[in-house]
Amino acid sequence: MTDNEIDAPSEMKADIEKITSLAKRRGIVFPSAEIYGGFAAAYDYGPLGVELKRNIRELWWQSMVQERDNIVGLEAAIITNPKVWSAAGHLDAFHDPLVECLNCQARFREDLLAEESPDGSCPTCKTDRGFTAPKQFNMMLSTIVGPVSDESGRAYMRPETAQGMFVNFSQVQSSMRQRLPFGIAQIGKSFRNEITVKQFIFRTREFEQMEMEFFCYPEDSAEWYEYWKQERLNWYFSLGIRPQHLRLRAHAQEELSHYSKGTTDIEVHFPWGWGELEGIANRGDFDLTQHSNHSGQKLTFFDQERNEHVVPHVIEPAAGVDRLMLTLLLDAYDEEIVGDETRTLLRFAPNVAPVNVAVLPLSRNEKLSPTARSVHDRLKTQFRTQYDDAQSIGRRYRRQDEIGTPICVTVDFESLDDEAVTIRERDSMKQIRVPISGLSDALADSLNSMQPKMTREK
Ligand code: ATP
Repeated sequence: MTDNEIDAPSEMKADIEKITSLAKRRGIVFPSAEIYGGFAAAYDYGPLGVELKRNIRELWWQSMVQERDNIVGLEAAIITNPKVWSAAGHLDAFHDPLVECLNCQARFREDLLAEESPDGSCPTCKTDRGFTAPKQFNMMLSTIVGPVSDESGRAYMRPETAQGMFVNFSQVQSSMRQRLPFGIAQIGKSFRNEITVKQFIFRTREFEQMEMEFFCYPEDSAEWYEYWKQERLNWYFSLGIRPQHLRLRAHAQEELSHYSKGTTDIEVHFPWGWGELEGIANRGDFDLTQHSNHSGQKLTFFDQERNEHVVPHVIEPAAGVDRLMLTLLLDAYDEEIVGDETRTLLRFAPNVAPVNVAVLPLSRNEKLSPTARSVHDRLKTQFRTQYDDAQSIGRRYRRQDEIGTPICVTVDFESLDDEAVTIRERDSMKQIRVPISGLSDALADSLNSMQPKMTREK
C-alpha cells in the first residue's frame, strides 16, 4: 500500500457510546475513581482490559524485540533529569495551539477545532462569537521532587518514552555490543497535559506508548524509513484489524514536529474520521546531537572498518497501547440478528482476545462440575481461559461473544459417559463434538484457523 492510498472504509457498526458502555459493563475499561465522580479523562482498566493490554504489549514486544537480533529493550525512569527535556526541545517546543471561546471561555486545541465543530461554533456553548488568537500551550506535566517545594525541585513526567533511548544510547550500545543498524525498544507510561481530551481512551493525559528508536547509518535512513512503515502496517494486519480501516498518511512539511525530517502516520478510520494510531518518524540525528551538545558526552558509534565516529540517524515507530486497544474494540465490534435477538460480539483475532477459551458446564451441577473443572484445569496452562457457570448457557454464550472469546467448550451430561465435549466457534456459532483426550489439539487448530493470515504485499 502506498502513502495516501485510501480504500473505501467499510461501515463500522460501533460508535464510541456503544464501546464505552460495553467496556464498562464487561470490566474492560471504565472512568477512574468513579465513586468520587471520576477524574478528567482518567480511566482504570479492569480484569479483561488488563488482559487485552498485556496481549498488545506482548505481541508488540515479540515482533519488535524477540523476533529480531538487533533490537533490545529498555525501561527508563518516567521522572528523569529535567535537562533531558530542555535538550530534547520539549520545554521550548512541545506545544499545542490553544484558543478560548469568546463567549464561555472554554479552551480548545485550535488544530482539532474543525473536527469537533465543523460549523465553527463553540463545541461547549454552541454560540458563534468566535475564539481568541491561538497561544502556544506547553503540554509537559510537571511535579516537584524532594522535600523542598520550590522551583529547584521542578521535574517533569515524561511526555514520550523515546528520550530514554537517546540518553542511554551509548550505555546500551556498548553493553550489548550492538553495531549499526540496531534498535532500542521501550513500552511504558507517558504523560501530556492535553488541552482537549476526547473520544474515550483515544486521547488522555496519562497513556502508554510502545516506541522503538532504530539507529542506522545516515545514508541508509530513507530506506529504513520505508521498511518500518510497511513492517508496522503489516503488524496491524496480523492483529486482525480490517485493512480498509487502516492507511498510511505522510505529513505535509508544515505539520512536521521540531525534530522530524519526515513522518508518516498509520491512521485508523475511527467513527469520527481518520485519526493517528502510530507515527513513524525520521528523526535524523536531532536527538543524539542535542544530547551530545547539552551533556558534553560523545553520542556516536565508532565504525572500526571506516575508522570514524558516526552520529547515527534514527527511525522511530511510536504507537499507543490505549489507542490501539480502542482501535481493536471498534474494529472488532459487530451486531447481528439471531432469531429475534441482536447478538453483540467482538470479532477479536485469537492472539488479542482477552480470553481465548471459555469452559462452560451446561449447568451448575454437582455431577458436571468436577469434570468441567478438570477440563478447565488442563486447559488453563495452555490457553487464556475463563470458567463460567453462572446463569443459563445461552446467556453465557452471549457474554463470551461480547468479550470476544473465540471458542467456548461446553461440558454436558453426555460428557460424563462419552468423555467428549462440545466446542462452539464464536463467529459461525458452529458446534462440534470433540473427545476430551484430543481437546487441546482441537482447540489449538481452531484458534489457528481463526487467526487472520492477511497481510499486504510489501
Ligand atoms: P496526536 O497528533 O494524536 O496528538 P502525536 O502525533 O502527538 O498524537 P506521538 O507523539 O507521535 O503522537 O505519539 C505516538 C503515539 O502515542 C500516538 O500515535 C498515539 O497512539 C499515542 N498517543 C500520543 N498522545 C496520546 C494521548 N494523549 N493519549 C493516548 N495516546 C496517545
